[in-house]
Amino acid sequence: MIKATNLKKSYDSLNVLSDINLTIQAGQVYGLIGRSGAGKSTLLRCINGLESYDSGSLTVDGIEVNSLSDKEAREFKREIGMIFQQFSLLNRLSVYENIALPMKCWNYKKKHIDKRIKELVEMVGIPDKLYARPNELSGGQKQRVAIARALSMDPKILLCDEATSALDPNTAKSIITLLNEINNQLGITIVVVTHQMSVLRSACEEISIMENGLIVESGPVETVFLNQSRALSNLIGNKDL
Ligand code: ATP
Ligand code: MG
Repeated sequence: MIKATNLKKSYDSLNVLSDINLTIQAGQVYGLIGRSGAGKSTLLRCINGLESYDSGSLTVDGIEVNSLSDKEAREFKREIGMIFQQFSLLNRLSVYENIALPMKCWNYKKKHIDKRIKELVEMVGIPDKLYARPNELSGGQKQRVAIARALSMDPKILLCDEATSALDPNTAKSIITLLNEINNQLGITIVVVTHQMSVLRSACEEISIMENGLIVESGPVETVFLNQSRALSNLIGNKDL
């Protein structure tokens, strides 16, 4: 379970997370939506320990993220995978080598790496692309490689920061289907940050709407859409989304 209580973070005088209260149950697919600058990516970076927070509490399975020693933080990060809008693959490396990177960092044996990569490319649907370079792949295929790499260390949480925003609607749909399959098969908690209402509706069980570093509405996705609250209407009417 991910739990934020009165979580606050600022950069100099800018309050980026003003007072976040949020509970994400283990095994959920949870959506976060909000305007550009609302603090969504910052919140994800706090959850995976890449960014520290100023006050309040943020726990993952009861562990206070800010309180970890360097060694503990390294172990902690290993259990949280992350994917991004721009895929963040290394173009000079093959698909195999990209997926292998985290396992090589942790000094896994080649035999284990080979076996794991075979399972992962099957799972994400690109077994025939093992030796391709990222620039020979479509956007959807690149995101599948990034997902395989994010899953390589058997994380218990997968954070997705605008993972479908650079993809056309059909490809985005296929990536969402894959994320839902991964959630069903592996029971991994998935946090989806998105600007796309369709992604929220098709992928997420519960969602929160963020505005200026605050969560202004939360609930089961259908309830939030049925309520048509001011926060949701603001987002739907916002061309920046
Ligand atoms: P988007 O939808 O555009 O990705 P977001 O909701 O993810 O937006 P964040 O990236 O979390 O927003 O940024 C929230 C605010 O914090 C923005 O005003 C941003 O300029 C500021 N910010 C983010 N990172 C830093 C940083 N490292 N230093 C200073 N300010 C930052
Ligand atoms: Mg962002």
